[in-house]
Amino acid sequence: MLQIEGMYPPQITAMLDLAESYVLLNRSGKTQRDLLRGRTLINLFFEDSTRTRTSFELAGKRLGADVVNMGVSTSSVNKGETLLDTAGTLNAMQTDLLVIRHGESGAANLLAQKVDAAVINAGDGTHEHPTQALLDALTIRRRRGRLEALTVAICGDVLHSRVARSNIHLLTTMGARVRVVGPPTLMPSEVARLGVEVFHDMKRGLADVDIVMMLRLQRERMTRGLVPSEREYFRFFGLDAEKLRHAKPDALVMHPGPMNRGVEIDSAVADDPARSLIREQVEMGVAVRMAVLDILSRRARRND
Ligand code: ASP
Repeated sequence: MLQIEGMYPPQITAMLDLAESYVLLNRSGKTQRDLLRGRTLINLFFEDSTRTRTSFELAGKRLGADVVNMGVSTSSVNKGETLLDTAGTLNAMQTDLLVIRHGESGAANLLAQKVDAAVINAGDGTHEHPTQALLDALTIRRRRGRLEALTVAICGDVLHSRVARSNIHLLTTMGARVRVVGPPTLMPSEVARLGVEVFHDMKRGLADVDIVMMLRLQRERMTRGLVPSEREYFRFFGLDAEKLRHAKPDALVMHPGPMNRGVEIDSAVADDPARSLIREQVEMGVAVRMAVLDILSRRARRND
């Protein structure tokens, strides 16, 4: 599971359907510990994470896998070399499932070529974060009953966002209309080629949309000043009740986290239970990751 780009609608639908069954299982408080019994899952995180790492850990444990968390501080990493060395080590330990987050785009693909384990990309640089897009799609589908023909506005720092890229691929593949909204300095130059409409103004970008997906300013990936002050940014691109009024009256608000309140989103919107799906996204994250582990381990079982 390296990227959404290249996946077909039936594959995405099958993953979402399976994840749906895990939502019900999780809500019932049951587990399915036989499924991954005897399997080893390693969480290899070269970048910080709260939701993704924890939910992969929970997902693995609820399915009965032995889960090992390896946090690697970015500051002590000599990227290319360390990654390949680490791959060799993990391969020697006969790992079945390897979840990797790394600051370099393409790191997960590289690792997948070097190890026998099934590799899951938990975010590689500015490239992709496929399980985030799947959990976002599941959250939307559960609320709206479909993805097709919905209009989704992805707003903010699109340039540095792997979440935006994975969501653009998934949503356009599933027949949704996607808009990207943000300042020109935070927009990839070729983004329109991905089949999205580009807006640099929140009022116009949010007009009549069904879903508003907000993104964090990824300061850690900015090599120069791309935005003025945070106050100024919030004034023009931060989502508050006033800007949300331009979307459909029942439009829903999403954010992959971590949120920077008062920078890209106002607390009144983020915490509004009638509009915000942010908590639900976290719940869907566990179910989606269970579905992904389930599907990938089926393949691994066939190779036994
Ligand atoms: N948690 C998401 C990611 O790792 C979004 C973010 O960091 O802003 O890409």
